[in-house]
Amino acid sequence: MTTSFDFFNYLNNELYCEDVKVKEIIEKAGSPAYIYSKNSILEHFIEIRDAFEEVDPLICFSVKANSNLSVIKVLADAGSGFDVVSGGELYRVLKVGVSPDKIVFAGVGKTSEEIKYALENDIFMFNVESPAELANIDRIAGSMGKRGRVALRINPDIDAKTHDKTTTGKKENKFGIDFESASQLIKNIDNYKNIDLKGIHVHLGSPIYSTGPYVQGLEKVYKFVQETLDEKGKQGIEYVNIGGGYCMSYTGEKVKRPRDYAADIVPLIKKLGCKVVMEPGRFIIANAGILLTRTTYIKVATWGKKFVICDAAMNDLARPSLYDAVHRAWPVKTDVPMPEVELPGEEKGSDKRLELVDIVGPVCESSDVLAKERWFPDVKEGDLIAFFSTGAYGFTMSSSYNTRPRTCEILVDGDSFSTVRRRETYEDLITGEKEFLD
Ligand SMILES: *Cc1c(COP(=O)(O)O)cnc(C)c1O
Repeated sequence: MTTSFDFFNYLNNELYCEDVKVKEIIEKAGSPAYIYSKNSILEHFIEIRDAFEEVDPLICFSVKANSNLSVIKVLADAGSGFDVVSGGELYRVLKVGVSPDKIVFAGVGKTSEEIKYALENDIFMFNVESPAELANIDRIAGSMGKRGRVALRINPDIDAKTHDKTTTGKKENKFGIDFESASQLIKNIDNYKNIDLKGIHVHLGSPIYSTGPYVQGLEKVYKFVQETLDEKGKQGIEYVNIGGGYCMSYTGEKVKRPRDYAADIVPLIKKLGCKVVMEPGRFIIANAGILLTRTTYIKVATWGKKFVICDAAMNDLARPSLYDAVHRAWPVKTDVPMPEVELPGEEKGSDKRLELVDIVGPVCESSDVLAKERWFPDVKEGDLIAFFSTGAYGFTMSSSYNTRPRTCEILVDGDSFSTVRRRETYEDLITGEKEFLD
């Protein structure tokens, strides 16, 4: 049994990213480190683009999943647009030289400064999340002699059946505008003198493991457009933005691929007769990245519990402590093959080469557990461990909690690799404070 997926492969008992030994990267870059595969990123982008080819979507990569400038550049060069949720993300995307007509801007709390910054740069569209925000964009655009192109983000009141903390399309979530309010806004859109209504946006949360929620969402949108809007209102719905949330496999299990989503979603888009925008994040980047860490100590309690203490922590990878997320972990060098599928809580006690361990970081919090109760091959101090599927919401959610410098990021392309963000230094961490010492 060999494990090979998304350009991360075990060959002769050793992990490679594309054609490079992961060990070789870490010898140069140090640990912990995020490692991304350029060709995996591109393969995922192309897979989603080809699946939806019939409706020729504008694919706007969700920058919050991974905002490294070099990752943005790889996708921009492949023709991707970008979905940003803050002025800072917009700054990053513009720095890379992305064309503003491929940038969409979502978020419930865009400040006046952020709106002004986006209007100055003539971004393609705001995804507006409240009547108050629409009025603010109108006012600011007016004062600048600009027009604000907007899609109304609808909250369709659908349960996307994902984690409580990552669902966004239920009525009690803060996101989007309910249908009733949206209908009022569209009826009165002429009152907003500096606004061009371009369409409707729906993003339901993530990851969404079935097509059902997308279908329900688009059916509700169709019904809304047909039954609620007059001819003029309908003309305002030139675009439908179907958001992100397309799943990828965290556990090695077979999950839906873009073609499966497209099979159910494309007919509804055609029925709506709109141009389409998509905002995939996780699907493109999650499995294109791993977090590499080195074992610092092994601790076995007298009652039997084994802790593998490593040099990465919850500040580097927040998802396990934040959402109970499961990331597969496996030693970089081992003669025990990584299981093709690994489900949490699975009994593997019969395989004598495996022991039950917790893999933990050095941060002073009990929630600093990166992998809980996993059957794991024997590892020693100094051994390297890879955490898989960490390219999305990995580095972008990292912090310097416990005054830990944030990791470096490495991009691999074929048989070469380069640093695309250097590791932070202690000096970096006190910049902005030290000048205030008296
Ligand atoms: C986070 C987010 C996405 C991306 O979600 P993924 O699960 O990474 O695909 C898309 N659109 C909006 C508005 C988001 O907030």
